[in-house]
Amino acid sequence: MLLVDESVGQPRSASQSEAQYHVHAWGEGFFAVNEQGHVVVRPNHNVNTEIDLFAVVKELAARDVGFPVTLRFPDVIKTRIRQLRVAFFEAMEETNYAGGYVGVYPVKVNQIREVVDSVVGEDGAGFGLECGSKAELIATLPYLAISEHLLICNGYKSVEMIALMLGFQRMGKNVVPVVETQSEFEAILAEAEASDTSPRFGIRVRLSATGAGQWSDSSGDNSKFGISMPDLLSHVQKLEDANLYDALTLLHFHLGSQIDDMQALKMAVKEISRIYVSLHRRGHHISYLDVGGGLGVNYDSNPLGGGKGGVNYSIQEYANAIVYAVKEVCDAENVPVPTLVTENGRAIVAHHAMLVTEAVSSTSKPTATLDFTPSEDDHQVIHLLYEMAVETQPNNGNTFSAGRLLEAFHDAVEERRNADTLFAYGYLSLGEKALAERLYWTICTGINDRIHAAKPNHIPAELKELNAHLVDQVLCDFSIFQSLTDHWSIGQRFPIMPIHRLDDKPTRRCRLVDLTCDSYGTIQQFVSPNEPASYVHLHSIRRGQRYFLGVFLTGAYQDSLSDHHNLFGPVTEAHVVADEIGPSGYSIREIVPGASVKSMVKRVHYHPGTLTETVNALVDNAVGDGVLSQSEGDAMRARYSEFVEGSTYLEARL
Ligand SMILES: *Cc1c(COP(=O)(O)O)cnc(C)c1O
Repeated sequence: MLLVDESVGQPRSASQSEAQYHVHAWGEGFFAVNEQGHVVVRPNHNVNTEIDLFAVVKELAARDVGFPVTLRFPDVIKTRIRQLRVAFFEAMEETNYAGGYVGVYPVKVNQIREVVDSVVGEDGAGFGLECGSKAELIATLPYLAISEHLLICNGYKSVEMIALMLGFQRMGKNVVPVVETQSEFEAILAEAEASDTSPRFGIRVRLSATGAGQWSDSSGDNSKFGISMPDLLSHVQKLEDANLYDALTLLHFHLGSQIDDMQALKMAVKEISRIYVSLHRRGHHISYLDVGGGLGVNYDSNPLGGGKGGVNYSIQEYANAIVYAVKEVCDAENVPVPTLVTENGRAIVAHHAMLVTEAVSSTSKPTATLDFTPSEDDHQVIHLLYEMAVETQPNNGNTFSAGRLLEAFHDAVEERRNADTLFAYGYLSLGEKALAERLYWTICTGINDRIHAAKPNHIPAELKELNAHLVDQVLCDFSIFQSLTDHWSIGQRFPIMPIHRLDDKPTRRCRLVDLTCDSYGTIQQFVSPNEPASYVHLHSIRRGQRYFLGVFLTGAYQDSLSDHHNLFGPVTEAHVVADEIGPSGYSIREIVPGASVKSMVKRVHYHPGTLTETVNALVDNAVGDGVLSQSEGDAMRARYSEFVEGSTYLEARL
C-alpha cells in the first residue's frame, strides 16, 4: 500500500484545478487546492489555519483507520452560525430593528451528537434547537440543562410529550411546543389547567403564500402541516375567553428546503407579519416570529441554477429580505417588532462534512489497437468493422462532417448487431465476437474524439449520449444508499473531486459506481456550470498506489436519511479541528468507528454467535475429514471471525 502522490503527466496549477472542479461555486470559502495539489479546508475562513486533506488521510491510514471515512469539521458549523448571525445583526442595524434575533437548529438535518454539540456551543455563542419527533425531543431536552437557549418542538405531539414540555416550562426552561393540530391545542390547555401551569406555545400557520422551492408543499392550502386561518381565529378566541394573553408566544411557518425564490419568502414573511400585528392588537403578547428554515446551499456550480442544485442569493440577502419585510409591516401598523427566529438546518451543517472514499478499480470500454489486419479467414463483418475503425481514427487525415459521423455511428451499430446475430447462429467464433466488440468501441471512441475536437455548434443527440457510454467506470469503496441518499432518491448532485494528485492533469473521464448490487448505486451526474456533466475528470488509477476522492457538502440530511442497502453500515468518522498551535494546523479530535458486520447482521435478526458457531462446526468437520489441514481450518475460522467483527466495506489494501 503506497500513499505517494508524485505527479507525472501534465502539470496543473492550484487555480486550474479549482476552476476545473468549480470549487469557488460550491466551496463558500471553505475549500481550496494547495501547491502540492491537495485539497485543503479552511474551516475558519482563515488561510492561517488550513487543513491539508491528504495529510489527514495519511494520518488516518497510519493509524490503521479503514476507508471510507466521513470527515467532520466542527469549526465549519461555527463559522456558518457566525455568518448567519452577523447577517441578521447587520440587517437589523441597517433598519434600526429594535427586536432580537435567535437561531434554532432543526436537529432532523443531522442529529449526530457532536454536530448538535457544535451548534449549541460550549460558550453560549451557539444556536438553540428545534426537534420534530419524540426521539428528537428526548435527545434535545437535556441541552436545556446547560443552556438558556430556545428549544422549539414542531411535528406531531402526543399528550404525554406536551405534558413533559410543560414540566420543563415550570422548571423555567424555554421550550416551546408548536401546535400543528386542533387536538394539540386542546391538549396543551387541558394539561396546563390540570398542572396549574401558565402554558407557552407556538402555532404553525398555514399561509397562502407558498415557497417556490422544490419542497414547497411544506406550506400552502394543501400542506401536511399547520393551522388554517379559521382554526387560528377560533383558538385565539378560546385563549381570550380564558384570559390567556401570554400563552401564544410564537408564530411559525416553514416554506420548505432550498428556497429558490426570495420573492416567495418575502410574501410569506409579510403575510405572517400581518397575522402577528392583528393578534398583537387583540392583546396577545407574541414574543417570537419564526420564519422556519430553507436557506439554500449551492451544491452545483451554477449559482443561478436555482432548484435543488443551488440558489441565487446570499445569506445577507436572505436576512435582509426577512428583517425588512417584518419591519415594514410592523412600522406601518405601529406595533413593536418581534424577536426573529430562523430554523435553518441545511445552510448550517451542509459544508461541515465530507466523505473520503477510495477508488479501488476502474474499467474502460474494451478497444482494439489497430496494429493488425484481419486475416482471410475472418468473417466479413470483422473486415467491415476494421475498415470503419481505421477510417474514423482521429488524426488520420480524413475529415468528417457531423452528419457523416452520425452515419458512421449508425453503420457501426448495425455491423455490431450483425456480429451478435451471426454469433447466435454459430457463424462467428467467440474470439471474433470479442474482436467485433473491441472494434465497435474503437469506432465509437474515434467518433466521439472527433466530435469533441471539432466542437460543432450542434451535436446530434445520439452522439452526445455516446460520450456518456465511453467514460471509465470507477468502483469506489462506499454505498450511495448509506452516504449519499439524496443522490439516489432525488438526483441531488454533490461536488466530487480527487483530494490529491491535483498538480497533475486528470485525463480520464469517469463515472462512479458503489459497492451495492443495485443499478441505482452509481453516480453519473456531476456539478457543472451548464447542464449537469455525465462524467468527472479523474486520474488513472495506478497499481499499488491508493487514490482518494472527496465527496463534499454531505453534512445535511445524508447522515439522517442513510439506509442499509446490502448491509453497508455507517462509515467511520473522524472529527478534525483547526489547531493554530500545532505544526499541521489541525488535530484529529475523535475517531468514531463505523458499523461492524456484526452490528449490521444483528439489525436483521441474525445472532453473530450462532453464525460463527455454525461456520466453526463446518470447518471442524472438514478438518476431521481431512478436507482441510488443521492450519487451513484455523485460518478460515480466524478470517470469518475477523469479518464478523470488522467493517462492512472492502477496505481494500492495494
Ligand atoms: C426540515 C425543517 C427545517 C429545516 O429546513 P432546511 O432546509 O434544512 O433549512 C426547518 N423547520 C422545519 C419545521 C422543518 O421541518
